[in-house]
Amino acid sequence: MTAVPASPQGFVERLAGIVGPAHVLTTDNDTAPFLTDWRRNYSGRALAVVMPGSTEEVAQVVCLCAATRTPVVPQGGNTGLVGGATPDAGGRSIVLSTRRLNRIRALDTDNNTLTVEAGAILQTVQEAARAAGRLFPLSLAAEGSCTVGGNLSTNAGGTNVLRYGNARDLVLGLEAVLPDGRVWHGLKGLRKDNTGYDLKHLLMGAEGTLGLITAATLKLFPLPQARLTALVAVNSPGDAVALLSALRSELGDRVSGFELISRHCLDLVVKHFPATVEPFAAAHPWQVLVQVEDTWRDAPLPSLFERALEPVLEQGIARDAIVSQSGAQARALWTMREHIPEGERLEGKSVKHDISVPVSRIADFIARGDAQLAAAFPAAQVVCFGHLGDGNLHYNLAFPGAVPTPEQAARANQLVYALVDELDGSISAEHGLGQLKREEITLHKSAVALQAMRAIKGALDPLGIMNPGKVL
Ligand SMILES: Cc1cc2nc3c(=O)[nH]c(=O)nc-3n(C[C@H](O)[C@H](O)[C@H](O)COP(=O)(O)OP(=O)(O)OC[C@H]3O[C@@H](n4cnc5c(N)ncnc54)[C@H](O)[C@@H]3O)c2cc1C
Repeated sequence: MTAVPASPQGFVERLAGIVGPAHVLTTDNDTAPFLTDWRRNYSGRALAVVMPGSTEEVAQVVCLCAATRTPVVPQGGNTGLVGGATPDAGGRSIVLSTRRLNRIRALDTDNNTLTVEAGAILQTVQEAARAAGRLFPLSLAAEGSCTVGGNLSTNAGGTNVLRYGNARDLVLGLEAVLPDGRVWHGLKGLRKDNTGYDLKHLLMGAEGTLGLITAATLKLFPLPQARLTALVAVNSPGDAVALLSALRSELGDRVSGFELISRHCLDLVVKHFPATVEPFAAAHPWQVLVQVEDTWRDAPLPSLFERALEPVLEQGIARDAIVSQSGAQARALWTMREHIPEGERLEGKSVKHDISVPVSRIADFIARGDAQLAAAFPAAQVVCFGHLGDGNLHYNLAFPGAVPTPEQAARANQLVYALVDELDGSISAEHGLGQLKREEITLHKSAVALQAMRAIKGALDPLGIMNPGKVL
């Protein structure tokens, strides 16, 4: 393949020839929303924002980009938290938005699969599954804007991982455009297929660096008919882990969500969202939001939950509990949990960490992390919440009334990530690497793993046009 030098104008005209002029954006006004990330930490420039309407159009656009050595930055809902969907400042890339690739292609209730295009909004996919009497369990606070393509490319987690797994666990087949413009048709709805390397698992979690996902065949599950949401107060993260074990022993896989919330996080929500009612009469240092569900409509969840909780209360592991009595109460508890990131944002900038360690080491991590950060930054405040059931915490550091300096951020990262390494954890549990952790990861992943990743990237994208400057 030879590079075809193209004037920016000629190149944009060729793009317009593929997707139609209305679907190539070039003015500052039109492109601005695509050039800054959700947290407003990264901004870039692009030759154009291109919105293909079919896989064939994506393939032609990528072919043209390969021929002209034009970098391609895939973008779904632009809700990613690591700058993965934002182009660099060079202005040579295109942003390829999947916004128009949003069709539901097929529903197979016997096979329990739904085939959707990459730009379909997660919430729309959940609703399509529900309309068919099934569950698509991926759920996160950005579900009204994020897309399936973005979810798979970041291997998103969210609040149902405990029972159903991460995004990659919910996929049976993929269709993708490879960096040379060829289409890989891998939309098989098979639960068993041992025919060599599993390409879909390479593309998922690759953050758009190995190709562009255009469609996916997703797994559906029986729709839960009975649901119980509870907020349980505990003394410590160790007690929260003991509570998780006790509930799972009694309730098994019915426990689908287990979210840890520190007192400080609750205070942030109460402060910034005045409609939030303080849940308990007393202030407890930690609380856990628990979701329990069953596909049997008449499942006696309240009595099962009570039976599971009784010994835990007697042993002093749990201090108090609120069990939702209505859908509205359950929603209010979840809204409180979902408001934490926004409450944190309204309070000011913080140094963010999205880490995981084995669940059994969570308490150790928090105790040692809190002590080390308090010693290094006596005036700072740890903001700790997250998916404890998956060993995943959002463990952030705020500097009340001040914006953290780059030196403070670097020192906080060093302390937190050293502890993560010591406890055999990960510095990015669910948000990915993007631009944010691209350099940091080289300090934490083995040379063997990094070399294998570079070899895969070089083999699939020898021209280096797919989302350069991200992940590796
Ligand atoms: C309020 C809020 C709450 C969140 N909660 C969670 C949470 O609980 N768990 C969690 O995991 N994440 C969470 N996120 C992060 C974010 O929503 C997820 O990373 C989501 O999966 C990104 O989807 P998107 O469509 O917005 O992708 P984008 O932000 O557009 O892109 C993300 C990455 O995927 C690539 N990409 C996008 N589409 C494609 C495609 N079709 N093919 C190839 N590459 C592609 C992009 O280049 C980029 O690298 C949250 C974000 C917000 C704002």
